[in-house]
Amino acid sequence: MKLVLKGLTKVYPARGKKGKPVTAVDHFDFEIPDGKLIGLLGPSGCGKSTTLYLICGLEKPTDGKLYFGEDDVTDLPPENRGVGLVFQNYALYPHLTVEQNITFPLENLKKAERPTKEEMHTRAVEAAKLVQIDGLMERKPSELSGGQQQRVAIARALVKMPRVLLLDEPLSNLDARLRLQTREEIRRIQRETGITTIFVTHDQEEAMSISDMIVVMKDGVVHQIGKPQEVYDDPVNLFVAKFLGTPPINTFDGHVKDGALYIGDAKVLETPGVEDREVYVGIRPEGFRLSPDGPLVCDLTGVDVMGRDTSVVSTHAASRDVNVRSIIDSEDAATITGKQVRFTLRPSKVLLFDHETEERIRYGNK
Ligand code: ADP
Ligand code: MG
Repeated sequence: MKLVLKGLTKVYPARGKKGKPVTAVDHFDFEIPDGKLIGLLGPSGCGKSTTLYLICGLEKPTDGKLYFGEDDVTDLPPENRGVGLVFQNYALYPHLTVEQNITFPLENLKKAERPTKEEMHTRAVEAAKLVQIDGLMERKPSELSGGQQQRVAIARALVKMPRVLLLDEPLSNLDARLRLQTREEIRRIQRETGITTIFVTHDQEEAMSISDMIVVMKDGVVHQIGKPQEVYDDPVNLFVAKFLGTPPINTFDGHVKDGALYIGDAKVLETPGVEDREVYVGIRPEGFRLSPDGPLVCDLTGVDVMGRDTSVVSTHAASRDVNVRSIIDSEDAATITGKQVRFTLRPSKVLLFDHETEERIRYGNK
């Protein structure tokens, strides 16, 4: 089912005498297409959880409307929305078995809506099969690993056959390996069920790897929405550019003069169409190319071979970061000698930003 947010806003009232009201969600205006997995991405405190609570009805919006398909659900109570929510701390009932935990939401339904015991069992087994824990139905949560507990929480959200599935940082309590595995699982479950899913995370790599579309937000404001690769390649501002990518984008002070970009005194790129001005320059790590007479000269700090690629760490007086991090072909890296490295830049990987607004400045054909 499609979700539509229209001017959706949540202001938490001030607490205490010195408190100020907090605008956790500021006029969200976007559509979540049917059957897709959306990554809601932003730093801690930017309003991700609040957005989910507004969608499932645990919080009431201060302003704006929410639609499921064509239906206005803004004032619909949570239990009538058909939304499954999985929290970060999956909070299973310790004294109940896996099966009882999964069927708990069904047991809680009003008598008229409650399925028979047999139906509940069938649906619990179906949900458990989806997340591959159907062999563990008689266990108690304490007899499960963290990853298995999280699967029980997902099965519990699926058993009600929700129209929308909301996952609030569902992987953050898992160790690195399980995180990887479980995020693939979530992707698979989402594809198999076709349930419109919103996946909240502050981890850009997690969001980029499994989402059909990402929504990048900060301080309650949506900055950019798009396919992960599109947002990575074509960020609208410096915040988005810096938030996506590991290693992160490198930033330099630069200036444009007579249609060319300068970092320090070095002319590093033609930037046709940009008027003379100071700029922030963002260069993705894969945007550097070693070249004996390259214009950008950096002081070498370290070279780290990582299989096919090599990470070259260096410094530059105009860099706004402690280190300049570049990723280059290991074969090319073999040519590095001495204390300096010289680079030419790949134009598609060099982004310019306004000094005041930090908005993107476009040049050439982008
Ligand atoms: P995130 O999930 O992205 O970390 P939240 O949605 O939890 O962010 O919070 C967004 C902002 O709203 C934060 O500044 C937070 O302190 C504030 N906030 C969240 N819940 C409440 C509440 N119940 N009362 C007052 N302020 C809140
Ligand atoms: Mg949160």
